[in-house]
Amino acid sequence: MIFDFFRRKPIFFYNTLVKSKERFRHPKRKAVRLYHCGPTVYDNAHIGNLRSYVFSDTLRRALEINGYRTEQVINITDVGHLSSDADEGEDKMTKSLARSGKTLTLDNMYALGTFYMNAFIKDLEALNILMPHFMPRASEHIAEDIELISRLEKKGFIYKTEHGVYFDTSKDKDYGKLGGIDVDVKVMHSRLQSTEKKASRDFAVWKFSKDAIGWESPWGKGYPGWHIECSVMAMHYLGKTIDIHTGGQDHIPIHHNNEIAQSESATGRTFAKIWMHNAFLTISDGKMSKSAGNFLTLDELEENGVSPLGYRMWLLQASYRSPMNLSWEALSSAEDSYTKLLNFVSALPSPHGTPDKKIVGDFIRDVNDDLNTAKAISKLWATIHDTSLAPDLKHATILEMDKVLGLKLREAREILRARASRVPADVIALAEEREEARKNKNWQHSDVLRIAIEQKGYTVEDRADGYKLQKNPQCRLF
Ligand code: AMP
Ligand code: ZN
Repeated sequence: MIFDFFRRKPIFFYNTLVKSKERFRHPKRKAVRLYHCGPTVYDNAHIGNLRSYVFSDTLRRALEINGYRTEQVINITDVGHLSSDADEGEDKMTKSLARSGKTLTLDNMYALGTFYMNAFIKDLEALNILMPHFMPRASEHIAEDIELISRLEKKGFIYKTEHGVYFDTSKDKDYGKLGGIDVDVKVMHSRLQSTEKKASRDFAVWKFSKDAIGWESPWGKGYPGWHIECSVMAMHYLGKTIDIHTGGQDHIPIHHNNEIAQSESATGRTFAKIWMHNAFLTISDGKMSKSAGNFLTLDELEENGVSPLGYRMWLLQASYRSPMNLSWEALSSAEDSYTKLLNFVSALPSPHGTPDKKIVGDFIRDVNDDLNTAKAISKLWATIHDTSLAPDLKHATILEMDKVLGLKLREAREILRARASRVPADVIALAEEREEARKNKNWQHSDVLRIAIEQKGYTVEDRADGYKLQKNPQCRLF
């Protein structure tokens, strides 16, 4: 249930198109249509990729707490994304298929995509990201790609070369309106020396292929360009004009400028009203990426004692537009804060009453300020420590805030119980024995037991209310 008095607050989002925050205006009766560029499913998503979807989930939740309905698409790129974001290199899926020793067939490529798509869905669930209403696969929209390219051909926007069909950016007077072109794309393209294109910033809408990875088209056998796939899937599920389009900031110069160029040239309408981009997750101050090999998966975080929701909590402590540099200290401290939060909430009596209007109103004001989750989280802590609120009302108020934060606070007790049972029984037995030794002031034996616990990969921390066991991080990157 959404309480009416929370609804009518103004919302501001930073729109990359105009490079400033602007007021979001939308008819309440219409769903807000959101498109988020999805993963290329040739490998597991890394936690940098997942930052993008925690951001898009927060955006959806923010709109929903303000009383909007949403229609959300996260696509699955399972063909056509080359190893550079521009037109060079091999198709990432083809490369991954070859690496796994499988024959190059469309069926095998589809199966590979299904495998990593399922892994991605598992990651979304672990991060408590609401499932999008649509999760289309690029390989299932080839006929529409061909249709869109044909439309561009009729309007004179494309030309054919030996290697593919290209969009002629000189025909689009607005090309590059998202920005980023001069700095990034020209430099990148000058290195590529792609002589067959009329201009370095022209881009492939269809690539020819001689092997089994391809479909027949009026221009020859091949596969669609990555950009055309997103235009097609966005328009198929959400219509010619969508409300908000998101992605990581790396997509601004090439992918998103190209999506705009081809969509707007084909339809003559605005493709997306608002463009929002998350900043990078970095590691040792470099962008986390699969190609650099400096990435971590959610499973790896968990193996090292940082839960997916602890990671979510860490991300929410900063603006989605600020770069975040990964360190175990920062992650562990977010994990500790999350555990503390779970402990506080699980100690509260069952929620009761209407959430406190002033507290939730202030909280939503922060959220509506371009998703200022850092401030919103500090409001959550202030509420936790607010002694003037009746505990059951406090609980109800906190759960209302969690509709945006998505930290599963309604399940605090269950999460704590499940966590406790995840520590191996022999480690718990050692910790219990040590607790007993400490009660008896047998410090020598207690120290021996601490070492035994550490040898099993855990640290034990003594607290006023007992002890806390934590897995020691053993990570290949730190
Ligand atoms: P990809 O699977 O490479 O197409 O990326 C999926 C999403 O993750 C895109 O929105 C990217 O912009 C985003 N992304 C990739 N690397 C990072 C990173 N290190 N930090 C934040 N977002 C990223
Ligand atoms: Zn896209």
